[in-house]
Amino acid sequence: MLGPPGAGKGTQAVRLARIWSIPHISTGAILREAVKAETPLGLEVKAIIESGGLIDDAAITRIVCERLLQPDARAGFLLDGFPRTVAQAESLDRFMQDREPLIIIEIVLSEEEVLHRLAARMICSECGINAQDESEDPRCHDCGGRLVPRADDQEAVVRKRLEVYRKQTEPLVAHYGGRPTFCRVDGAQLVDEVTADIVKAVEAAASGQKGR
Ligand code: AMP
Repeated sequence: MLGPPGAGKGTQAVRLARIWSIPHISTGAILREAVKAETPLGLEVKAIIESGGLIDDAAITRIVCERLLQPDARAGFLLDGFPRTVAQAESLDRFMQDREPLIIIEIVLSEEEVLHRLAARMICSECGINAQDESEDPRCHDCGGRLVPRADDQEAVVRKRLEVYRKQTEPLVAHYGGRPTFCRVDGAQLVDEVTADIVKAVEAAASGQKGR
């Protein structure tokens, strides 16, 4: 899944992983978990994440490729937050050689809407998932954990993340844009509408591949 921070990748990924019964692999969640557990990786990446920068391509690619080799990812997987640079996308293309083609979903959202959404975003301090927008409940719907703002959702950090997105991640739209499995959806719609659009687009892309 591609799209700026706050476009709804995480929220949609949780729903889509349930619909298709495939693992949701969020590099941001893996890294935040490592920071929380104070593992060597977590200690190394904490300041980078909190400043809105990107961690090293080689390190994140290794983490993702190891994860993709787990048995639960054999029948498919949903990547959220990876790739984020052209170098990561090229590594992923090499990894996917001789496998089913990637389906790329770009969720489009304006920067103004990103700033507005992230100012209000809360995540669960226990399981890390995004709180549901429509809820006023101070606890996580999934595990009952306390909801907290994300450390990197302060406005100055969000502006840096947007700049990083524009420079490093948006070029992936050109990298993938010519593929028949590239889909684009409008992220400003209601959450259910975005999910429905993605399901429709992905199923069309997947059946187009089968017909080849
Ligand atoms: P996310 O939850 O996807 O917004 O990711 C949160 C932060 O984790 C990012 O701002 C980066 O600092 C780091 N991160 C996540 N995925 C990647 C990646 N593919 N490459 C480099 N850094 C990443």
